[in-house]
Amino acid sequence: MVVVTARVENISVIGTGYLGATHAACMAELGFNVIGVDVDPEKIDSLSRGELPFHEPGLPELIRKHVDTGRLRFTTDMDQVGAWADVHFIAVGTPQVKGGTGADLRFVDAATTSLAASITKDALIVGKSTVPVGTAARLADLVQDTTQEGVQVSLAWNPEFLREGFAVEDTLRPDRLVIGTRNPGDEATLREVYAEALGRDTPFISTDFETAELVKVAANAFLATKISFINAFAEVTETVGGDITTLADAIGYDTRIGRKFLNAGVGFGGGCLPKDIRALQTRVAELGLDHSMKFLDEIDQINLRRRKKAVARAFELLDQDIVGKKIAVLGITFKPLSDDVRDSPGLDVAARLFNAGADVAVYDPEGNRNAAKRYPRLGYVNTLTEAVTGAELVILTTEWQEFRALTPADLNDLVAAKRFIDARNVLPATDWENHGWTFAQLGRKMQH
Ligand code: NAD
Repeated sequence: MVVVTARVENISVIGTGYLGATHAACMAELGFNVIGVDVDPEKIDSLSRGELPFHEPGLPELIRKHVDTGRLRFTTDMDQVGAWADVHFIAVGTPQVKGGTGADLRFVDAATTSLAASITKDALIVGKSTVPVGTAARLADLVQDTTQEGVQVSLAWNPEFLREGFAVEDTLRPDRLVIGTRNPGDEATLREVYAEALGRDTPFISTDFETAELVKVAANAFLATKISFINAFAEVTETVGGDITTLADAIGYDTRIGRKFLNAGVGFGGGCLPKDIRALQTRVAELGLDHSMKFLDEIDQINLRRRKKAVARAFELLDQDIVGKKIAVLGITFKPLSDDVRDSPGLDVAARLFNAGADVAVYDPEGNRNAAKRYPRLGYVNTLTEAVTGAELVILTTEWQEFRALTPADLNDLVAAKRFIDARNVLPATDWENHGWTFAQLGRKMQH
């Protein structure tokens, strides 16, 4: 049985994307020496210069601070950390497999194998990536098979709950810490790593691998369910009338339900919720439990229908004649305060309208660059004014503050026609209607 009791001084983080770069910088902030490792040399070059290659509030400052103090370094060379770190966090991607619904574990497997082979000093490997249940047990065997003789390496799982846009805050002040371990001593090592949060009485759930893996996907499945739950009611209210926001407020006052994640609109997206509910269903079906998570298929379908509904509303507002019409799409990141466009509802809506022949003008405060890599043919503009000038229709798809603050007076003289779809239900509809706008929201019956 492996017992790791050495004091933790040096930490490596394998994978320096949204999760890994944040984790590495925050570990340095907590006083550890940290090396971030990635297979992407461009990412490593930029991080080594103290520059963050993506948008996350507060993170550039933290990276620069600790690159300057020398406590935070980055490399593509796994061997550098194998002889150095006491704890290695694995934070590589687990995207949806191409052409399927399960999680693609190639990156986690490759990172774990090359890390375990490079380790020459007793250490603890801690998986943070979101993985299907059973992965940690399989990787623990892989680590034992790969580790060099005479070196004691153990594996733990510590799922991550950070929210993009609040990643630094969530990492430094998590609302709970969950760890799955098998070997005595690993919990003590992780308690040392997280001593600061534990000093603030952060709930610390120490459990087995399977529970730790499942907690993460259960949390995401629950959040996705809440959003699709209210969106299913939005399908009803937009047919029979009624106000979906009032409905959400009213049920949300019940503390057993809670108001958060009950905002009807164009639905969820991003690099986590959609792929995590699909991977969970797929994994559970693999285990022979075909029915247990079947409801998640419906959650996914409700969510995807919302995107189609936003497009249908656009057709409706333009009398089915959208070819050549200028449509301003405001917001293409999957949520505000991020530049992440993975599985983004706004980008999907923009692409559908473009494919239907509309002249789409996309504006997002942070997302244009990433979106252009995925859909180079969409018309990207650099300002809100450029997007809406001459537009026959404006669609708000991501609730950035800049868009939430819009008033009819801001747009009245710029657009070619006063038509608006607020696909996030964040603007006061009657106010816009009083200024002569044809104003649609998802979950709201069309006012003709
Ligand atoms: P990401 O795509 O931004 O980053 C993944 C990084 O891993 C990339 O930089 C990639 O180059 C690197 N990588 C791939 N293979 C590697 C290897 N063999 N060795 C070293 N580096 C390698 O992804 P992300 O959003 O940071 O997500 C990472 C994991 O964290 C996923 O499992 C995700 O589900 C989970 N997660 C993400 C968030 C979030 O908000 N982004 C929150 C909680 C959990």
